[in-house]
Amino acid sequence: MIIGVPKEIKNNENRVALTPGGVYELVKYGHTVLIQQSAGEGSGFVDEDYIQAGAEIKPTIEEVYASAEMIVKVKEPIASEYPLIRKGQVLFTYFHFASDITLTRAMIDSRAICIAYETVADDDGTLPLLTPMSEVAGRMAIQQGAKYLEKPIKGRGVLLGGVPGVPPGKVLVLGAGVVGLQAAKMAAGLGAHVTILDINMKRLRHVNDVMPPHVVTEYSSEYNIRRHIKNHDLIVGGVLIPGGKAPKLITREMLKEMKPGTVMVDVAVDQGGCFETTRPTTHENPTYIIDDVVHYCVSNMPGAVPYTSTLALTNVTLPYVLKLANMGWEEACRKNKDLGKGLNIVDGAIVYEELRSLFPEEV
Ligand code: NAD
Repeated sequence: MIIGVPKEIKNNENRVALTPGGVYELVKYGHTVLIQQSAGEGSGFVDEDYIQAGAEIKPTIEEVYASAEMIVKVKEPIASEYPLIRKGQVLFTYFHFASDITLTRAMIDSRAICIAYETVADDDGTLPLLTPMSEVAGRMAIQQGAKYLEKPIKGRGVLLGGVPGVPPGKVLVLGAGVVGLQAAKMAAGLGAHVTILDINMKRLRHVNDVMPPHVVTEYSSEYNIRRHIKNHDLIVGGVLIPGGKAPKLITREMLKEMKPGTVMVDVAVDQGGCFETTRPTTHENPTYIIDDVVHYCVSNMPGAVPYTSTLALTNVTLPYVLKLANMGWEEACRKNKDLGKGLNIVDGAIVYEELRSLFPEEV
């Protein structure tokens, strides 16, 4: 199979979908790999590394799309890529269709085979291709939140760990999944007081088992959220309804109850966000302020740490890329149920149930 890797063109996205090690494996199985010139540079891989691993370098994105039977990417295609995608071409990448009707329509019109990283799922419901990026984003949420709590960037002026004689900052984490657990772990490591909410008692039990006593678990209800937002300094949104839009757990009206300079980091922004006032931001302009509350809503947080993120992502995507290349998408998705759950749009039809119910007019 001919596999193409375009350079990511989303703002400040420096990850790449295949490492030279991944190219080496694909070439070993007899596949051809086309890498767009300088696609790996942001992650520390130069064209020469790819050539030595057996790839061909293509100078333009158009040449990659034109020749490849399967495109492997990191982020969803953006508008300038839509015309390059053709009928029957396999696209294996993050799509996050639920929050983007324009992208959904464009992919339906392209009649391509869209396999979304974020809906590939194990039998127990875990999302193996989302996990490593959620681990990165969850840890980064505290790093970023701690920074924006500083007064010169309009935060409350609170040091999360406190100092001897001064109590630590308070962190509220919504969602005790992968993002939530990693955020809680980082915040607890800094010495902050952490409250973590979820509607899934199994998750709360797990957090309670593995975290130190200054990480407190509570059931996620509107009542509890309203109670906690008044006295927490940093709020992290890490909720997910797989394939669906995130529930709006903090409304615009609730911002007035928070202390000025509170920081809200909405990691769930890529699924529409779990705060009513969330709108996607970029690494260049990561924050905005509403009612004195600092919002950080970068939709590709791991893109800021591409060395770590590319390795973490390709560790888990490569086995699936190999299956798709070796068997073709139909057989690979039939034989491997986890991968089959990644199918979202096939030849102009939405095939992922949650997405069909979100966009019934497109079915
Ligand atoms: P996950 O499935 O591991 O965890 C989500 C948790 O949310 C689950 O435990 C679920 O029970 C909980 N939840 C659902 N409804 C809730 C509610 N009403 N109140 C409290 N908790 C609730 O998901 P994850 O891997 O942690 O990902 C979380 C979000 O972060 C996803 O939207 C994901 O796409 C996003 N994400 C964003 C970035 C970024 O760069 N912004 C990076 C990685 C992941």
